[in-house]
Amino acid sequence: MRLQKYLAHCGVASRRKSEKLIEEGLVTVNGKVIKEMGYIVTVGVDQVACNGEAVTLEEQSIYIMLNKPEGVITSSDDQFNRKTVLDFVSTDYRVYPVGRLDYDTSGLILLTNDGEFANLMTHPKYKVSKTYHALVKGVPKEEGIKAFEKGILIDGSYTQPASLKILNCNDNSLLEITITEGRNRQVRKMCDAISHPIVKLKRVAIGNIVLGTLQEGDWRYLKEEESEALK
Ligand code: URA
Repeated sequence: MRLQKYLAHCGVASRRKSEKLIEEGLVTVNGKVIKEMGYIVTVGVDQVACNGEAVTLEEQSIYIMLNKPEGVITSSDDQFNRKTVLDFVSTDYRVYPVGRLDYDTSGLILLTNDGEFANLMTHPKYKVSKTYHALVKGVPKEEGIKAFEKGILIDGSYTQPASLKILNCNDNSLLEITITEGRNRQVRKMCDAISHPIVKLKRVAIGNIVLGTLQEGDWRYLKEEESEALK
């Protein structure tokens, strides 16, 4: 198996991040640093290590959903000692978050030790939908809704078409927004672009997986049909 695929399968990181680890010279095979990307590992024979820690193939793939509270970072550790999503989950498996939610966004985040699954969920080419409930200032007009459907210019390029539904409105509006990419602060930037800045943002679904009644800070394993439906 190719070295980067092996690392991803073992739950070290996504395939892309594993490639970076290899490039940075942090990965050894049988004690020797390997920077060659296509290096073939014989599973069960070669001894692979990353950052000096043995990397072995875990037998079971694990899929977890967490309702992330605001004020928590989507990362495995934090240099400023802030709470991370891993502080909320207790499992024997070495899982890591799939994609990210901003520090000030709450809601559904998946964690896994399956690098292929993480890649499938986050790579824009697979167009997995992500649905948010956004409380915004004011009430979007028809032209704002149309702009979402066409795609909005942020950071120098247009987003993929997105949908915007008004669920409830008064001075502020509660919107249901669905996007198929995961660009940096994408929903906030899209709402800024139509002059309805976000007051609160929560992710409520990824593909067919819905947050449902899972309370903030709580987690559970995905049912097999939930993770399979996304593959
Ligand atoms: N879009 C955002 O702006 N923030 C998130 O956390 C997720 C999507």
